[in-house]
Amino acid sequence: MNDNDQSTFKEAEKSSWDTATGKWMVDQLQLAQPESTTTSFGLAPEEVGQLQEIAKSGATRFYFPKKLEQRFQQEQRQQNRAQRLTVAALTMICFALEPLLSYWLVTIPDGAKSLELWLCFGVIVPAFAIATFLQFYFVASELAEASLLLAICAEVAVIEILRLHATTLGIYIVPTITASVAITAFALIGLTFRRRTTLFIGYFAIIWFTDAYFSEFNAQRDVSVWINEFIVLTLVWVASAFNRINVRRAWAANILLEISANQDSLTGLSNRSAFETHYEQQMRLGRRYGKSSVLALIDLDHFKQVNDYYGHPYGDAVLIKVGLLLNDCARRPGDFAARIGGEEFALFLYDCTAEGARSHLDAMVQAVQALGLEHVKSKVGFVTISVGAVLLPAESALSKAYQLADINLYNAKGAGRNQLVVSELS
Ligand code: GH3
Ligand code: MG
Ligand code: MG
Repeated sequence: MNDNDQSTFKEAEKSSWDTATGKWMVDQLQLAQPESTTTSFGLAPEEVGQLQEIAKSGATRFYFPKKLEQRFQQEQRQQNRAQRLTVAALTMICFALEPLLSYWLVTIPDGAKSLELWLCFGVIVPAFAIATFLQFYFVASELAEASLLLAICAEVAVIEILRLHATTLGIYIVPTITASVAITAFALIGLTFRRRTTLFIGYFAIIWFTDAYFSEFNAQRDVSVWINEFIVLTLVWVASAFNRINVRRAWAANILLEISANQDSLTGLSNRSAFETHYEQQMRLGRRYGKSSVLALIDLDHFKQVNDYYGHPYGDAVLIKVGLLLNDCARRPGDFAARIGGEEFALFLYDCTAEGARSHLDAMVQAVQALGLEHVKSKVGFVTISVGAVLLPAESALSKAYQLADINLYNAKGAGRNQLVVSELS
């Protein structure tokens, strides 16, 4: 059919057809935004939008969608493991040695000795020993972080009590020594905004309470010390908040990069590289548990004619619609759909028998036809697919699986298209 014939045919058949853009047909499919597309991270499009917002400079949104926020916090704790361990272990060692040092430096009366020993060995050393143990083995957990924060709060209170108590021995210790504990926590252990704020408020609450409770020791902060500590801690708090925002921005950009490296931009499905990674992972699992799987290659029938007849925008819309349906066919854990080429898709079905695959994939072939995507050049009048599938024992190499599935696909095309051919890799 030459161009003239084609446009005459189109005008006769479709009164509102826009030959330049194919918009009429695309609108019919209502595919401007594929709604149920999820990324390889299992994120919805609006969640990806949130990530993009955070990655931009000048963003006003800083918290990730729930799933990613959890992952971000765990990764950050993991990354700060060395700092957290150092803070916890060093504090424990310092307080274990503190009574020894103070005996060398000053003469402490017996009554004061027992208070000092009790605070060091009864409170701080065990608190930081637990925190050190948890940072060492479970640093990504909430519990490890909570134990470190509690230990730091206890340390603030104990230093404050020892400082106040030291005045009875005629020793003056500058009050800001306590502030160094909070500054270390802000600078080193990488807390979230809420936790940092809690520590900020907690710090001032603890020193206010201890100063008030032990007022007889007469070494309370005067107003200038309060103001000084408030200014210093606010500055450190603000600096660490900005630093954390930059870390979040870089992390969001990194996730977006990872998504785009693994995702097909038209359909939102995973791309070939993500599919191959998934294949290797599932095959390893299959080998371990002795499970067979199925690889299906899916190709749209006479798709060149869809583009030629209806235009590229309609062809793209059809790919999105069919892609979404194929993605829905990857239902069970371990199943995976991807767009691996122009109008070619792949579906991996984990722990699947030949009979199971046959009925599932046959239903898929029928479901694509039942979408009712118009294709006047096809035998049935609608867009259809051909599928070549192969049942894989646990040890199958991807190249071999592709090769056999491709032969089956070729046979399905040869047998008249709109059908499935399955075989077993022995
Ligand atoms: P068969 O039934 O034998 O598979 O025939 P076919 O026409 O589908 O196969 P062929 O390989 O000749 O054509 C594939 C067509 O897919 C060619 C190209 O125009 C189209 N195509 C590939 N990628 C895209 C895309 O991203 N968007 C659109 N609209 N079309 C695409
Ligand atoms: Mg093809
Ligand atoms: Mg094709």
